[in-house]
Amino acid sequence: MAYYSQPAAANYHTPPTHSVRQRGYRICDQCGAAESPSVSKFRLCGGCMTTQYCSPDCQKVHWPSHKAICQHTASQVSAAKHPSSGYDNLAKSLRKFTSAHAPLLGWAGFQALQLKRIPANVRQNALLVELTPSDHHESHRRFSVAATHVVPRTYICDPLVIADIQRREQRCRADGGIGTAVIIIQCGDVSQVMPVEVDPPSKIAWDSRDDWALVLHHFVESGRTDFQPISTTSRGVYYGY
Ligand SMILES: [Zn+2]
Ligand SMILES: [Zn+2]
Repeated sequence: MAYYSQPAAANYHTPPTHSVRQRGYRICDQCGAAESPSVSKFRLCGGCMTTQYCSPDCQKVHWPSHKAICQHTASQVSAAKHPSSGYDNLAKSLRKFTSAHAPLLGWAGFQALQLKRIPANVRQNALLVELTPSDHHESHRRFSVAATHVVPRTYICDPLVIADIQRREQRCRADGGIGTAVIIIQCGDVSQVMPVEVDPPSKIAWDSRDDWALVLHHFVESGRTDFQPISTTSRGVYYGY
């Protein structure tokens, strides 16, 4: 297998019961507060550009445990900066793309791993989304989905990334969730890991969908970032193909 780097991605809280959290709002990496209109704007860690916080205080408190993965992520990107390779741009593009499609990717991971029926899958498997660059210049359309695979979690071999996922997993379980769904977004030899903390099945209103790969494809190809999961409780919500 070709070498690829795996910078950890920003954390996204998926599911939920009530509509406020239904769209995969970002959560503060320190205190777990969900981003909302009242918690104005989250700030990104300037080192890794992936982890986010609700306040400077939370960022400060989190630094001792975040330092290792942060420097690791930042150094992987800068080490790969060859003047002509465009690697750095690709890594940045991948992050922007992932961020723009976070609710869709999180939902696809949830469906691919069949977490509603088999919650234990969250610990065994991950969703790998293979991308190819496209001609579009907007960040959310820079890539097309080439293929999707369910792979064992052991696909991730970077110890710092594994440790970061485990930390999130512990926090999620402490909050009553089932764990962290892992979505790996890969383009050539550049990849990134997107962990999504998942609520317990009893709280998840999303329908199970076998056609998740088609839905993923459709939204990415048409450049739509307004994806919302269907839930049985809100009749009439429709993808609108
Ligand atoms: Zn916070
Ligand atoms: Zn950082």
